[in-house]
Amino acid sequence: MNALEIKNLSYRYSDGTEALKNISVSISEGERVGLIGPNGAGKSTLLLHLNGLLPEESMTSVISVFGTPVTKPHLPQIRSEVGLLFQDPDDQLFCPTVFEDVAFGPSQWGEPREALPAIVSQALTQVGLVGFEDRTPHHLSRGEKRRVCLAGVLACRSKMLVLDEPTSDLDPRGRRELLTLLRRLPLTQVIATHDLELVVELCSRVILLDKGTVVAQGSTVDLLSNEPLMLAHGLEKPHILRHAHPHISH
Ligand code: ADP
Repeated sequence: MNALEIKNLSYRYSDGTEALKNISVSISEGERVGLIGPNGAGKSTLLLHLNGLLPEESMTSVISVFGTPVTKPHLPQIRSEVGLLFQDPDDQLFCPTVFEDVAFGPSQWGEPREALPAIVSQALTQVGLVGFEDRTPHHLSRGEKRRVCLAGVLACRSKMLVLDEPTSDLDPRGRRELLTLLRRLPLTQVIATHDLELVVELCSRVILLDKGTVVAQGSTVDLLSNEPLMLAHGLEKPHILRHAHPHISH
């Protein structure tokens, strides 16, 4: 069974903007896939479809996640399985303490109150934030905030992680820590990003979107090494692939 199956998805915003045109994509369980393309290509719009965050009229049975169609009756299940990390962690963190933020998801999905401390502690350990329970999320660094969001997703035992520009606001150390963390997590991951070096290091496959359509998909090294293709879609061949024989293991 595929983790994600999208067949002929088109989406138009209420103002008439045609953001996605006939998208078909499938992602296997455990795969890490990079979603790349210039600004306005449709990456965020596509990610929002993966757990049914766009208005209901857009939902049809063309998308399925672990075999379950993304339709209204299935949304609670889909939203527990698909952990979406927004571009701005401040949009995601809204509780007075880290504990409450990380515990929010699992308590929504019915975990008993007494189970929450152990769940939160385990999730914080996984993201390297042991002992952060009583801290105030909005006083943390950007990298720490991102890791709290990730802990929130892990606490829900999500099976697929969907990240929108996860490194755009991180310093090199924060970026490296996040990269190491993502590489260790054995979840299916879909990562929309302009950070093509990150894609090379993390993802075995990429999907290139432009103007709402999939213009290419395939092996990361093959696609990102294709300089004419990259330039034609507002991107650049990453430095890491400028050497003749890159040795990259995923
Ligand atoms: P990306 O994430 O690749 O930058 P988006 O999915 O944000 O692309 O945008 C795809 C297209 O949809 C763009 O033309 C953008 O202007 C448009 N768009 C995005 N959000 C909205 C919205 N809420 N209302 C109308 N148009 C939108």
